[in-house]
Amino acid sequence: MKFFASATHFVSVLVCVLLLCLFSCSRAGSQPQPSPGSTGPVPAEPENPGPDPEMVFNDHLQRILEAAAIPGALARSVMDEAAAGPSFILDLLTAIEGDPYLWILVDKKHALPPGYEPDDLVELTGPSYLVNRKGLLLRSPAAESLEEMAAAARAEGVTLIASSTYRSYTYQEEVYARNVRQSGQETADRESARPGHSQHQLGLVVDFGSIDDSFAVTKAGRWMVDNAGRFGWSISFPQGYEAVTGYRWESWHYRYVGRELNYFIDTYFGGIQQYALQFLHEWTQAEL
Ligand SMILES: [Zn+2]
Repeated sequence: MKFFASATHFVSVLVCVLLLCLFSCSRAGSQPQPSPGSTGPVPAEPENPGPDPEMVFNDHLQRILEAAAIPGALARSVMDEAAAGPSFILDLLTAIEGDPYLWILVDKKHALPPGYEPDDLVELTGPSYLVNRKGLLLRSPAAESLEEMAAAARAEGVTLIASSTYRSYTYQEEVYARNVRQSGQETADRESARPGHSQHQLGLVVDFGSIDDSFAVTKAGRWMVDNAGRFGWSISFPQGYEAVTGYRWESWHYRYVGRELNYFIDTYFGGIQQYALQFLHEWTQAEL
């Protein structure tokens, strides 16, 4: 997995740098021509101009957007943002540099390797939030961010309660089997992940409060909607996107993606984490 992560990262950086180069070259090449009356030297035509770098970039981006199943209007807005200047590529680069597990796609179609277990899990101890039982684990960057976010919430009179966090592969096997036994396969698939397909295995996810729809109307639920993004936490299964995420609305389930990736999700993908991660998945696997 380590090899996969670093190889993917290397390729994506390479692709980004290349595209950034293409972008600047194409901008440099689009200088105004001298006016008819001008006496200045007329630049010689290049002998073999080759494909227009801007077109190469646009085609590449379009293919990625299609492969990532980004819907038409959103895809067009991404194309427009990318055409407006290098900010899109720079923000993309910033979003994927560093820890690849912040943006790795884990959903019904994309599993983590069965043996994957983070090596920096820590037990949640607060002090600014509550836990509903002992022994809840998160990766240390997520745990630190949770404490920072919970302190900010507490300062506004809101208490965050962590109810479910890291789930090992073995634990997912047990939960999924139990849900199928109790509710049948169809319902189980709507509400719980098959083993290896849960974001909870990343150690970067917290289910808050009651873990049901009532959380959305609590003070904590409303505070999270307004503030979680500032601390790099993103709702994974928003309302109205079951066909996209594969899960019904889960107002309580937040994934720590970091501030940079959260900015990328909000700015270019309308706050829909699934779209942004599908896009990054295709982007980092594609070759120019
Ligand atoms: Zn959850």
